[in-house]
Amino acid sequence: MKTYGYAAQSAQTPLAPFAFERRALRDNDVAMEVLYCGVCHSDLHQARNDWGFSRYPMVPGHEIIGRVTAIGSKVSRYKVGDAVAVGCMVDSCQHCDQCRKGEEQLCREGNTQTYNGVDRITREATQGGYSKHLVVREEFVLRVPDNLDPSRAAPLLCAGITTYSPLRTWNVGPGSRVGVIGLGGLGHMAVKLAVGLGATVTVLSRSPDKRADALALGADALLVSSDAQAMKAAASSFDLIVDTVPVKHDLKPYLPLLDIDGTLVIVGQVGPLEDITSVPLLLGRRRVAGSPIGGIAETQELLDFCGKKNILPECETIRMDEINHAFERMERSDVRYRFVIDMATLQPA
Ligand code: NAP
Ligand code: ZN
Repeated sequence: MKTYGYAAQSAQTPLAPFAFERRALRDNDVAMEVLYCGVCHSDLHQARNDWGFSRYPMVPGHEIIGRVTAIGSKVSRYKVGDAVAVGCMVDSCQHCDQCRKGEEQLCREGNTQTYNGVDRITREATQGGYSKHLVVREEFVLRVPDNLDPSRAAPLLCAGITTYSPLRTWNVGPGSRVGVIGLGGLGHMAVKLAVGLGATVTVLSRSPDKRADALALGADALLVSSDAQAMKAAASSFDLIVDTVPVKHDLKPYLPLLDIDGTLVIVGQVGPLEDITSVPLLLGRRRVAGSPIGGIAETQELLDFCGKKNILPECETIRMDEINHAFERMERSDVRYRFVIDMATLQPA
């Protein structure tokens, strides 16, 4: 199938119109028209090869809302016209212990990323949601609850699940005290979801001017991370801290904020950490952990939870041809709190 989108041709070039092919439908494939696609900080990292494994041309995008246009002969869960969604993965081995548990993100063979991945059958590069059409096997297609506004739901597919999964792993609920470092795309979802689960939430931010927003999102407080006195007063006050900072940063100021047995879970930065000292870990039996996206069943659980609680990301809708400007703004944290591309604005390449 001929289609088109926006691609990076190298780490140094801006995204530009790009024509390419989607595979013909396999028996278990769902084809969709992409209606909306969120802009994740990972898209920027990958387009610029910040993680060192980018291949080009690359069509980014892994927060995808679409409508089914065709189905393979063995597809049973979806029909033409359904509102569907796709997140960060489009395939996995489906038979290892992790896949069988519904933790496809932890597949022993490695999951297949929605873009900058390799198709398990043809070995072709996968291409993401900054495009008109997408073809995905049905096991990796999600259902969008009817009451969720499709123009705002896309960020749930990455920012949402990446923050929901650790909240669930560490059993966040009423009585939990949660800190969120960095109020951006992931951070603002962490706040909304933790509040939705019944927790008391504090935002830890560099930006005092985000205080009103943090409170409006449901947080109880915003702590400015450069305010040494306020940081000291918050010692031992969190059960879980979700760290969404996208670049290398110092964890030392945050570890004493964990209570005994508390966990700081890194969901943002990919790569070497700044030196930390084991002292707060030993003395408080505290932990530093990491967490990648979430499984398919958990992503559906998240979508249904958001449908039930009417939780939606805060979005700024952009045109496809505004993507390079959006990347620049995201780099300087000038987004409140997620860009979403209206794919109706994408013109044929
Ligand atoms: P984002 O919208 O740019 O938000 C990041 C926030 O972190 C900013 O709003 C800012 O908040 C804070 N921040 C930015 N630069 C900082 C710096 N130099 N020092 C300290 N704080 C800084 O990004 P995002 O889309 O939420 O993504 C965040 C990270 O998560 C990215 O690295 C992305 O690749 C990663 N990610 C990981 C997964 C996973 O599976 N684990 C999934 C998706 C994304 P304040 O102004 O409040 O300080
Ligand atoms: Zn993402």
